[in-house]
Amino acid sequence: MKKVPFVDLQRQHKQIRDDLNNAIKKVIDSGVYISGNETKKFESQFTEFVGVKYGVGCSSGTSALQLALSGYGIKHGDEVITTTMTFIATAEAISAVGAKPVFVDIEKQNYNIDPVQIEKVINAKTKAIIVVHLYGQSADMGMIMELGNKYNIKIIEDAAQAHGAYYNDKMLGSIGDVACFSFFPGKNLGAFGDAGIVVCNDLGLAEKIRMLRDHGRTAKYKHDIVGLNHRIDEIQAAILKVKLKGLLANNSLRQNAAKFYDNSLHGISNDLILPFCPKYSKHSYHLYVVRCTKRDELMNHCINHGINVGIHYPVPLHLQPAYSSLGYKIGDFPIAEEAARTVLSLPMFPGITNEELEYTVEVIKMFF
Ligand SMILES: *Cc1c(COP(=O)(O)O)cnc(C)c1O
Repeated sequence: MKKVPFVDLQRQHKQIRDDLNNAIKKVIDSGVYISGNETKKFESQFTEFVGVKYGVGCSSGTSALQLALSGYGIKHGDEVITTTMTFIATAEAISAVGAKPVFVDIEKQNYNIDPVQIEKVINAKTKAIIVVHLYGQSADMGMIMELGNKYNIKIIEDAAQAHGAYYNDKMLGSIGDVACFSFFPGKNLGAFGDAGIVVCNDLGLAEKIRMLRDHGRTAKYKHDIVGLNHRIDEIQAAILKVKLKGLLANNSLRQNAAKFYDNSLHGISNDLILPFCPKYSKHSYHLYVVRCTKRDELMNHCINHGINVGIHYPVPLHLQPAYSSLGYKIGDFPIAEEAARTVLSLPMFPGITNEELEYTVEVIKMFF
């Protein structure tokens, strides 16, 4: 039986093996393992790539979100609006600073937060909106930035799945008041462990986040504010510098694979809905997500034929046990709940072969 992995990171790394080895060796030989030049260089290269002024590398995407919220002084008694259809880290960061996550339903076609629903839950306690660009596809940033201006609330982009994706001609991460990226290994830009970055154009905010990242320091033993340790390792920064060079080329490979799926799966069944790209969006295809009312049967059929698929995500956050105290119930966000029952992520990674794509399509066609 043929096998198709869901992602294959080794394949991507094989081609840049020497550069990675050299980068790691350089760090080992330098004797500096945190807060050194690799971190500074990566921060400046990544901010230049996104098109923003300041970047603060940190220990994960979750840390980046927590730092952004703390940077704005968001705390107990405040509310932060976000989508119910995301990885739980988005909401955990809100809880970690003591604020209350307020969930909102998604748009039916592109799975991102619905701006119309956002406006209904804005109140005097609302301090920020965390917008997730789910699967690598831009949320409706035009409408969301208008809401931010109208109500004077901060717009935080969770771009953990959207490195190198665009809203019109702007790279995601350069539109909101602040943006957070994850470099978890499986993301479009991934480290060899955990890492993340916060980026923004506001010098005061960046300086505060820089302090919060490193024990509230202004000097070695001068702690002006209460921070924590959210630092990035030099070795991760060095690896990310090497991998950043190939990010857009790897995104193109993902886009080509997505085009193959689009063309080959189009019209094979009314019960197979393919990704929808609004005009404003250039998708980075962190995930290629289809939907089908017989999702579980289709998933098992794929797995039985050696194709690894995933579900992102099977339970929306308002129905997670961890958030039961917020009092949400089944039926509160019907569009996200239906998506959670029907979405299926197909194999998608740079380096997936034509043969693997063709076999995946063949097996899906066999199901219908
Ligand atoms: C991966 C991810 C995060 C968390 O990133 P980590 O680096 O794993 O902490 C946050 N939000 C979204 C949407 C993610 O996909």
